[in-house]
Amino acid sequence: MKSLNAIVTPPDYIDIFEDIRDKKKKKTRAKLVAAQASLRLRFIHYEVCFAANTLHGLPSSPFAYIKDELRSCYGRNVGMVALQTAIKEAQPKGRLVWCPYCGATTPGSHDHYLPAEKFPEFSTHALNLVPSCTRCNSIKDDDWLDAAGARQYLHFYRDAIPVAPFLTVNVSSNTAAQAVGATFSIQRAGMPASSWALIESHFRKLHLIELYDSYSNDLINLALRSVRSHLNAGGADAAGFLAGEALEAAELYGEYGWRAVLLGEMSTHPHLDQWVSWL
Ligand SMILES: [Zn+2]
Repeated sequence: MKSLNAIVTPPDYIDIFEDIRDKKKKKTRAKLVAAQASLRLRFIHYEVCFAANTLHGLPSSPFAYIKDELRSCYGRNVGMVALQTAIKEAQPKGRLVWCPYCGATTPGSHDHYLPAEKFPEFSTHALNLVPSCTRCNSIKDDDWLDAAGARQYLHFYRDAIPVAPFLTVNVSSNTAAQAVGATFSIQRAGMPASSWALIESHFRKLHLIELYDSYSNDLINLALRSVRSHLNAGGADAAGFLAGEALEAAELYGEYGWRAVLLGEMSTHPHLDQWVSWL
C-alpha cells in the first residue's frame, strides 16, 4: 500500500477538462461552455479542499442540470486517454502493476474518488481519478463517506500511508500436510486516531484481510518457487534472498503492503528451508 503521485500542472486541471469539452458535439459543448465560470470555481474548490484535507466537507454538486454532459466527457476520447496516460506516467515504473486500493489485482479502471454520480463535474478532474481494479471500484461505488460524514477510503494522491506496522501476518505450516498458510490482521500500531479510522474503514469496506488471506497461498507458493530457483542456480542464503524480495515489494508497493509483509515474515521464519523442500 503506497501513495501515488498526482500529475503535475500546468496545464491546470480545468484546462484538461476544457480541452475535452471543446471536442464534444456542439449542443453538449454549448451547455458546458455556458457553465464555464462556475465550473472553474468548482475545480479550484476541489483543489483547495484536497490540499486542506476537507474534501468530505465539499458541498453537494450544483451541476445536476448538466450531469449527462459532464459525465459524457469521461470516456474513450483523445483527451481522457491522454490524461489516463499522464496519470500512469506520473508513477514510478511498476507501481501500477497492482491496484493501489487493494494491492492484489490489476488496476483496469479509474475510480472517481468523489463519485461521478454525485459530483459529475469531477468526472475529468485529474486529482479525482485514481487507478483502481474493477473489484475495488465497484465495492466503493458512491459510498465514499460514512454516516458521520468522514471519508471511508484512502485517497492515494493525498493521504500519506502511516509509517506504523498496521498490517501483520502470521505464517504457519502443517508438517503432516506439508502445507503453509497465512492469516493477516490489522491493528492501530500507535497511529493517530484519524489515521487509524481511515485505514480501518478502508480495509473493512474493501474486505482486504479476507482478500489477502485467500490470495496468500498463491504468493507463498510463488515465493517458495523463487527461493528454490535461486538455490538451484547455485545461490545461497534462502532467507536473505527472500528478504531481498520483500524489500523490492516494499519499495514498489509499500513497507506495509501485504506482499512485503508476507515475504518479510516468511524470510525470518525458522522453517523456510523445510517449506522449500515440500514443493
Ligand atoms: Zn483493488
